[in-house]
Amino acid sequence: MDDFEQREMHKATCSDCGNECEVPFKPTEGKPVRCRDCFRKNRPQRSFGGNNNRRFDNRDSRPREMHKATCSDCGNECEVPFKPTEGKDVFCSDCFKKKREF
Ligand SMILES: [Zn+2]
Ligand SMILES: [Zn+2]
Repeated sequence: MDDFEQREMHKATCSDCGNECEVPFKPTEGKPVRCRDCFRKNRPQRSFGGNNNRRFDNRDSRPREMHKATCSDCGNECEVPFKPTEGKDVFCSDCFKKKREF
């Protein structure tokens, strides 16, 4: 997935195809390292985004349907995980957090 780009990358040599590659974890000596292509090839295909198996912890990270809305507080466009009701205030996550602190 694309969040590979967000992590610290370490140079490594793919033990499968031998290409130089970067991996998002520190390569352990003696352990095989695979480039992204080989990693994908070797990973069992999953229809979902490829989260881990801890499905009981996954309740909150499950992709929810997002709805575009305008924050009633700061006026920014934002997305909310529920259908905005007309006439009701909608807050972006920042403002929502701020409100909850009060
Ligand atoms: Zn490879
Ligand atoms: Zn806001």
